Amino acid sequence: MSRIVVVGSGIVGLAVAARLARRGDQVVVLEKEDDIALHQTGRNSGVIHSGLYYAPGSLKARLSAAGARSIRAYAQEHGITTVPTGKLVVATDAQQLPGLRRLAERAAQNGVAATTLTPAEAREHEPHVACVAALHVPSTGIVDYVGVCRALVREVEAADGELRLSEAFVSARPEGTGVVVETSRGTVRADALVNCAGLQSDRVAQASGLEPEARIVPFRGEYFELVPERSYLVNGLIYPVPDPRFPFLGVHLTKTTEGGVHAGPNAVLALAREGYRWRTVDVHDVVDSLSWPGLWRLGVKNVVPGAKEVLRSVSRRTFAASLAELVPAVRVQDLVPAPAGVRAQAMKRDGSMVDDFLVQRAPRQVHVLNAPSPAATASLEIAAHLEREVDAVLA
Ligand SMILES: Cc1cc2nc3c(=O)[nH]c(=O)nc-3n(C[C@H](O)[C@H](O)[C@H](O)COP(=O)(O)OP(=O)(O)OC[C@H]3O[C@@H](n4cnc5c(N)ncnc54)[C@H](O)[C@@H]3O)c2cc1C
Repeated sequence: MSRIVVVGSGIVGLAVAARLARRGDQVVVLEKEDDIALHQTGRNSGVIHSGLYYAPGSLKARLSAAGARSIRAYAQEHGITTVPTGKLVVATDAQQLPGLRRLAERAAQNGVAATTLTPAEAREHEPHVACVAALHVPSTGIVDYVGVCRALVREVEAADGELRLSEAFVSARPEGTGVVVETSRGTVRADALVNCAGLQSDRVAQASGLEPEARIVPFRGEYFELVPERSYLVNGLIYPVPDPRFPFLGVHLTKTTEGGVHAGPNAVLALAREGYRWRTVDVHDVVDSLSWPGLWRLGVKNVVPGAKEVLRSVSRRTFAASLAELVPAVRVQDLVPAPAGVRAQAMKRDGSMVDDFLVQRAPRQVHVLNAPSPAATASLEIAAHLEREVDAVLA
């Protein structure tokens, strides 16, 4: 039995904590907030991704396809709401057809069942959609990720693990064959540390003596909801054909587990890592982002699409127009603001986004340095991967 400190009570931290607790390790989860899942995990689209988009053989492709199955099974076993909605990716003009074809090929490479549909066939699933062709992915669904997190906490506590809320990780250093962790409340000695701090993961790594090869750049995603009387416009999930230059999927319409319809998210550079509104500015975070050369390189390459995202952020009308490309009946007056999320996207010095999940080891330490979407879907499989990493640093 080992004593393991896990930093962060998002779904990745809790999934690995529960996995280690189940096998008998003594687990302490540190969470700086006064509740679990207050950042990415509690502010996402709630989608169980099927593994459609990701480079074949990548961790994302492998862990999300398996993760979609395991998270659905976990939700069913623990009485958490999950709905097998299926999803349509829609090409709204002929120029998008090659992109849709590439996606169909990738689905085949990743072993994800997907059928190309005519507009009439697409409307059998989503009567209000507009398209020239669509890809139907039946295995995509939705789940209550915060409900999953609460079940994971129950497992940790049932195995005598501890969740310490309002206790922040401050630093870590090696000591003998273990690690000493300083927190906002004191000192914790452990055999190993697992960093699952999401938006703060590069800082937690640095405060543990590691120089991460990539930095977190925060991208805020704003959401709206369809007013309840218009939620009949969407049955399941409707996505655009993604722009292959970006790691984000484009604004989409998703049914929620409460029966509403979420619209979004867009992607704008956030002025604070945990900044959920335009007016939230953290000078330290802004300086950090701007002093990373990669961000400038990305900005120069993407002036036009970046400006479009900003416009969509400040103008509800432009946001509605993007949604109306998918479902023409959506009007600006159908949208009411919903809470935003911020994605932790790791970026290299040269401006390239780290596409795959990224885990880095140090003596007695395992750091999750990039766990963007679909990490919620893949969380139980990421936990299995991290368990092997923990065993490697304990050996
Ligand atoms: C807008 C948006 C939409 C998304 N949609 C989907 C989707 O539909 N499907 C999907 O699979 N994925 C989706 N994702 C991605 C998914 O939500 C994330 O990949 C996943 O939640 C990451 O979980 P995490 O545990 O790594 O991070 P988080 O949930 O961010 O948790 C990190 C935790 O670490 C804590 N922490 C940070 N620093 C410290 C410290 N110093 N001490 C103690 N605690 C600390 C934080 O408070 C936080 O609780 C989306 C993400 C966003 C932002």
